[in-house]
Amino acid sequence: MLRRMSRYALSFVMVATVGLVGTAVTAGSAVAAPLPADRTVADDTTQDVGTMDACYTWNRTLSQGASGADVTQLQIRVAGYPGTGQVLAIDGQFGPHTAQAVTRFQQAYGLAADGVAGPNTFNQIYALQSADCSPANFTFAELNRCNSNWSGGAVGAATARENGKRTMWKLQAMRRAMGNAPLNISSGFRSVSCNNAVGGASNSRHLYGDAADLVGSHSFCSLAQAARNHGFNGILGPGYPGHNDHTHVDHRASRFWSAPNCGI
Ligand SMILES: [Zn+2]
Repeated sequence: MLRRMSRYALSFVMVATVGLVGTAVTAGSAVAAPLPADRTVADDTTQDVGTMDACYTWNRTLSQGASGADVTQLQIRVAGYPGTGQVLAIDGQFGPHTAQAVTRFQQAYGLAADGVAGPNTFNQIYALQSADCSPANFTFAELNRCNSNWSGGAVGAATARENGKRTMWKLQAMRRAMGNAPLNISSGFRSVSCNNAVGGASNSRHLYGDAADLVGSHSFCSLAQAARNHGFNGILGPGYPGHNDHTHVDHRASRFWSAPNCGI
């Protein structure tokens, strides 16, 4: 969102963005450098790889073999398309798994599906992302109903917030795959005190900011089943103790799926 802005409008948004996310893990790469006064937005895209975006702007086409911070930014946004049971590594290295995720993203949005991230792919991402880098249908506030600054968890605030962002991009993919019906989060990040207040496990992934408890218009089993396709190593749903009124997803290091009432 907020693309095709004038240089002056972008400068304003950049100032606001720095103020909001100055401590985020990706703050350095999330803010585009200002253009020299004699250059226009169009001049800056030497390969015509898209328009400037308030969150993040890609300046080159990315394909297998590429590496760098721009690959990392792409991986975060296509990590919801890893293939069933897979988790895409966010490592800045554009390998075959990244290409497959880009292909699935392109297919999901009706783009030419070649696994190469160029102008059409970037423009689709720009259309999806808000100025604070959250995807269109989720917000940082929704991922953190515990406090306003992401502090007090098992990791630093910037890491917890970044984890929350990555969770939202996976959920955006899952939401689209489920027909764009609302997908709501009843609990996301929790500080230790928030986690204790709701009786959460002492090692809960909610303390890391990478867990979300899902409710909404879908059945809990439908949510648990769909989550298998969108990069979640942790899935807990109906039949697992304490999970009959929501489906939990997270980014734990190795797979643990349990929703016995759903065949999982
Ligand atoms: Zn949970």
